Parts: sequence; structure tokens; C-alpha cells
Amino acid sequence: MSSFNVAKFGGTSVANFEAMSRCAVIIENNPNTKLVVSSACSGVTNLLVELANGVSDEQMRTELLQKLANIHDAILAELKDATETANEVYKILDTVTSLAEAASIQSSHKLTDHLVACGELISTHILAQLLRERGINAVRFDIRQVLRTDDNFGKAEPDVPQTAQLAEALLLPLCRDHVVVTQGFIGSDEHGNTTTLGRGGSDYSAALIAEAVKAEGLEIWTDVPGIYTTDPRIAEKAAPIAEISFSEASEMANFGAKILHPSTLVPALRHDIPVFVGSSKEPEKGGTWIRHQVQSSPLFRALALRCNQTMVTLRSDKMFHAYGFLAKVFEILAKHKVSVDLITTSEISVSLTLDQTDTSGGAPQLPIAAREELEQLCTVEIEQNLCLVALIGNNMSESRGYAKQVFGTLEDMNLRMICFGASPHNLCFLVHESVSRQAIQKLHKELFEA
Ligand code: ADP
Ligand code: ASP
Ligand code: MG
Repeated sequence: MSSFNVAKFGGTSVANFEAMSRCAVIIENNPNTKLVVSSACSGVTNLLVELANGVSDEQMRTELLQKLANIHDAILAELKDATETANEVYKILDTVTSLAEAASIQSSHKLTDHLVACGELISTHILAQLLRERGINAVRFDIRQVLRTDDNFGKAEPDVPQTAQLAEALLLPLCRDHVVVTQGFIGSDEHGNTTTLGRGGSDYSAALIAEAVKAEGLEIWTDVPGIYTTDPRIAEKAAPIAEISFSEASEMANFGAKILHPSTLVPALRHDIPVFVGSSKEPEKGGTWIRHQVQSSPLFRALALRCNQTMVTLRSDKMFHAYGFLAKVFEILAKHKVSVDLITTSEISVSLTLDQTDTSGGAPQLPIAAREELEQLCTVEIEQNLCLVALIGNNMSESRGYAKQVFGTLEDMNLRMICFGASPHNLCFLVHESVSRQAIQKLHKELFEA
């Protein structure tokens, strides 16, 4: 096992010169940090996604491109010697301009990935130069040479063995004498096309890279000092958790706690790499350690909220006492590459939610062809504007009495699709978007603030 650490910095951590300088201090303070994974500067990916969706109004497109340039110019202006870096940045911004024009004529998932990847390609040029100017022997590395994925643009899946092989050949030797600064979020398929791992994917990248180089530790530096009992932007009294197990943190990430991309802990768990989550603004505040073994396993650990849920209800009298109905439904969904998240059934109906969204954002949609095929079998109802509330904890399926407390707290709310029992770590349900934050606030008060 190599003795070094991988540090990932999110968008707000590299938002501007001051923020990047704080990252530099964190890197300087840990000589084991040999690999730095960076997101795009805050706000940049959103602008790129907007352009990738196709902006046909030329003036609007120019305005968006100007905003992008401004964000990066402001940081370049603070560097001591920006000439070379600015050249690189402007080359990429030129690519953004042509791709945005192409997207305004016809957008595609492949083009979107090529375009949105530019945010990380730029930020890493700037961060590497900033580190060099502080005397760190930093080098920028294009992770597309190493992070091999399939060609599922917008939500690509990594090829783990190939990534490990390429990392060993190309990345590890560089880390011996340098601090290597590389991109989160992006990779490339076997033909060299740029791919992305989905929004928020830099956490996942960092974990995949840590796994590939067999790192000793992974640090996720963000804008909050650790993982909280719920999103502190929703519940004022949310409190940081000092230590949490991989299973609990994975459930949180899966159920929408934005602090970690849902797949982040999969590679870390495979290689038992401890993960630290802390704030690059206030590193002195400490943070959360995610570990295999933890001291305590409380019944209630945290609450997570995931909005933009699409619920599909399939109803058919033929389902009554029949066999093979669900198999047919899932065959159709699989054929159209529709991934299902939650599921509940009754005698003549089944409700399911569609799996979360890719880089282009928004609520997941049931493809028209899949809907048409399902309609041959049953009626299809689609509901949106729903959010998934998840209560995460331990031994939940073996504990008694708390359902009354949970549902009693929410007695004036209409709860949909309650899922419980498959995992000892969660209880979850859907509520209408308009009451979702209130549901979290009420539950947090009842279960975590007592
Ligand atoms: P980064 O750009 O660093 O990846 P993100 O915005 O993706 O940062 O994630 C950090 C944000 O996640 C926090 O600002 C917070 O609002 C949100 N968040 C959601 N759930 C939690 C939680 N349980 N604990 C801490 N932060 C959370
Ligand atoms: N820049 C990408 C995003 O905003 C990836 C990340 O920050 O994790 O989604
Ligand atoms: Mg994030």
C-alpha cells in the first residue's frame, strides 16, 4: 500500500483564489497528500450544463460564455505568473465556445460530456499553477488517460481493473516526486471520448483514484465540517457526526445527502480506505471519519432528502394472483435501460421510482418507447414533484416502537410509497415536494434534537 493520501476539493473549495489558497494550505499541512482531485470552480458546471442543453439565442450564449470567462479570469488575475496557464485556460474556453454552438444546433449526451468536462479541465490548470507558485512541486495530470469508463455518457461506469492498471503505469510514477493535480467527475471511454460520472461525481472519482493507487486515506474537502445529522441548510440544528460506518454513510449518499456522490463509498469500502470529510474553509473544526468499524451504532443516525423523484404506478387486473407480471414489467424496463430505485406492490398494482438523474439534470423520465410497451400490459401513471425522505440508522428492522414516533410526527402529511425492511439501515417514503423540507425539519426535531 502506498503511503499517500488522496485529497478531493469540491466546487466551493476551489471557487476563487482565496478558496484555492486554503486548499493549498491543507495540502501543505499533510506531506502525505500526493494526489489532489479537483472539481470545477463553483457554478461552472451549471453554466456548462446550460450551454450543453442548447442555447439557441446567440446573445444569451455569449453572456453565459462571458460569465465562464469572468470566473476564471478573476483567479488568473491573482496568480503571479499566469501567462502559460491563461493560454491553456483560453484554449479550453475556445473549445467550450465551439461545443456550445454545436449544442445549440443539436445536443447529445456525448457532446454534453465533452462540454461539461471543461470545468474540471480548466480548474486543475489553475490550481496546479497556484500550488507551484507557493513552492509545491505540483503537476497537472489529465485523468482521462487513466480513468477508463464505459460509454454511458452522463453517468458512465468505471472499468476498475483497467483504471488500476493505467494508474499504476501513468499516475503512480508521477506521484513519487510531485503533488499531482487531477480532475474529478470525468473519464474517457475506450475510444478516447470524454465521459462523466454524473453530477457531483468528483467524490466518486476521488474514491476510484484512491482505490486505483491503493491510497492510505481519502479526504473529501467541502464547505461543511463533516457529515451532519441532516443537511444543515434544511435543519438549523443539524449537528456534525464525528464517526460513521461505511454502511450508514453509503445509505445517506444513496438517499440523496448531497455531501457525497452516491457511489463514493463503493471503491473505498472495497479497499477499506478510511474517508475523512471536512471543510476547506474551517479545517480546524475537524470533520467526519467514515470507517469500517465505529464506536457507536445508534438507532437513528441521520435524515436525507432526495427531490426530483419520478413515481410510476403500473396497474393491471391481470396481476391478480398471476405469475410473471412483474417479470414482464422489469423485462421491458431493462430493455429500455430504465433503472428502478424503490418499489412497492399491492394486489393489482406496482409503484416504482426511477433511478436518479445523469449529468444533464432534472427528474428522471420514463422513455416514451418504454411507456408505450408497458401500456400494452397495464395502465401507466406518472407522478412528479415528489421527494424521498430517508431515515438512516442501525438495526432498524429489528427494533420496535419507533414507527409510531416517526409517523406520528408526520401525521398531517400524505406519505407515499413507504419502504422498510429490506435494509436494517433505513426507512424511507415519498412526500410532495411542497412539504419535504418541513418533513425533514419535524423529524429532525423529534428524533435528533431531544
Ligand atoms: P462539494 O462541491 O464540495 O462537493 P456539495 O455541495 O456537493 O459540495 O456538498 C456539500 C453540501 O451538501 C453541503 O453544503 C450541504 O448543504 C449538503 N448536505 C446534504 N446533506 C448533508 C449532510 N447530511 N451533512 C452535511 N452536508 C450535507
Ligand atoms: N463539477 C461537477 C458538478 O458540479 C462534479 C463535482 O463537483 O463533483 O456536478
Ligand atoms: Mg459534491
